[in-house]
Amino acid sequence: MKIVGITGGIGSGKSTIAAYFNSEYNIPVYYSDAEAKKLMVSPDLRTQIIDLLGVAAYNGNDLDRKFVASKVFNDAQLLEALNAIVHPAVGEHFIKWSRSQDAPYVLKEAAILFENNTETLCDYVILVTAPEEVRINRVLERDQTTEAEIKSRMDKQWKDSKKIPLADFVIENTDLEFSKKMVSKIHSQLLAAPINT
Ligand code: ATP
Repeated sequence: MKIVGITGGIGSGKSTIAAYFNSEYNIPVYYSDAEAKKLMVSPDLRTQIIDLLGVAAYNGNDLDRKFVASKVFNDAQLLEALNAIVHPAVGEHFIKWSRSQDAPYVLKEAAILFENNTETLCDYVILVTAPEEVRINRVLERDQTTEAEIKSRMDKQWKDSKKIPLADFVIENTDLEFSKKMVSKIHSQLLAAPINT
């Protein structure tokens, strides 16, 4: 099974592009952030996260995302400790999931990929880009948030200029019709490409 990472900064459109691979070409997509959220309320991770952050990390069965964010946002060590709980669990879950898929390749969609070395798990990586201003406007339209909050999240992600040389494919996602043409091309190339871990 070929594993293809698809990443991009906040608002770049990586989820939109990944969803298009799925709807147009039936490619299974693993949405890492959504799966991480689900795993964080599983009994095993819940125990570990409470040990790290305290019982206030949960509101009943739900993770208190605001509380967790407030704890780890400006504490790199605590964030690293949280990631050390969540990332291996997501990695394991993803591997199991990918083995159960019947497709020429699967997509692993993740906002953070090069930043945490996930590219080593991938045969190929697709990077979705768009100018920062466009991305900010998209997220302002999509979410209830502020420009300052988006920018502070952007600051935690690598700049496109650092990621572009590391990617196997780059989709500059401003005009969606152009992006769809790129997806068609990349899909053909991925079908023909060898396993490359
Ligand atoms: P995040 O990291 O915040 O989850 P993302 O990279 O997954 O973001 P999407 O959610 O796919 O980004 O896209 C952000 C918003 O921009 C969505 O509302 C989506 O519909 C819109 N969008 C995506 N691509 C385009 C495009 N080419 N033209 C216009 N709007 C787009």
